[in-house]
Amino acid sequence: MEAKGVKLKETVILCIDIGGTMVRVGALDQQGTLLSVSETRFESRSGPEAGFKAITQLSKAILDECGRKRLLGIGLGVTGPVDHLRGTINNPFTLPTWDNVPIVDWFAKWSGTPVVLENDADMAALGEYWLGAGQNIQRLYVVTVGTGIGTAFILKGEIYRGINGAHPEGGHQIIDPEGPDCYCGAKGCWESLASGSAITSQAQSMLVESPSSILMSLSGGKINTVDARMVTDAARQGDQLAVEVVQRAAHYLSLGLINTLMMFAPDMVVLTGGVIKSLDLFLPTIIQAVQLHNVMVPTTQIIITPASLGYYAGLYGCAYAVLRQANT
Ligand SMILES: [Zn+2]
Repeated sequence: MEAKGVKLKETVILCIDIGGTMVRVGALDQQGTLLSVSETRFESRSGPEAGFKAITQLSKAILDECGRKRLLGIGLGVTGPVDHLRGTINNPFTLPTWDNVPIVDWFAKWSGTPVVLENDADMAALGEYWLGAGQNIQRLYVVTVGTGIGTAFILKGEIYRGINGAHPEGGHQIIDPEGPDCYCGAKGCWESLASGSAITSQAQSMLVESPSSILMSLSGGKINTVDARMVTDAARQGDQLAVEVVQRAAHYLSLGLINTLMMFAPDMVVLTGGVIKSLDLFLPTIIQAVQLHNVMVPTTQIIITPASLGYYAGLYGCAYAVLRQANT
């Protein structure tokens, strides 16, 4: 995909992925080649103005490094609630202090180019649709399982949007009404039971009662440093506590996936995010659940596959969103 009437070798698209703790900035060409990329820790609590300053400094460095002269546009993929139509971030949940921030106006004034804002799960899904595992898939559902759970539905190449352009939040579907409190105000949301954070908190609380777990030695006895990766590592070594935590998360992960298959009957579900690096540990439970529910919807025909772009899927999606806007 190329923007019309623009010399390819001069142009660059600035792609910015703003998460709760990290910001990633990449310069991509129109074919989707990553020309330069960098990331930095991100303190949203310092406030939106300070955050914007830090991101534009990093962006300038990336643009200088890639050596391209003409900036075609900027794609912003941002965690949590964003208003795609108004160009604002409304996310005091995972970006504390970032409420009603006119980020598109800020970047448009800074760059003098068009700016596209989408939820980060939508950007990752667009990336997978453009160049990744979901190419040319008509009904593509993408689930990102990391610190939280983000979902996106790409329907015939377009981001599915809800009322007033709202991004549907599959990660906050209720899986267990008696489950743990979620920051959104509900109990037992999918991400409070099956995300990396859920795995971490479950393991930490169980570890107090099971000091013989190898997680104790892996964490040097510091229970509060146990994270999801340590848990999956310990599960691979057969640690009983870790296996139990992983099986519990796999159970909840499969429940949310089955809900998704039942409601949308997509052609493909692409799984991505940090937790999915250990997909092999979760897959037997998922496959079992899919086979069990192959009744009202032909769930076994739905392809469930890991993402192919990995870490930078969101950046590719940002570039694709800018190119599509330039061609409309
Ligand atoms: Zn929630």
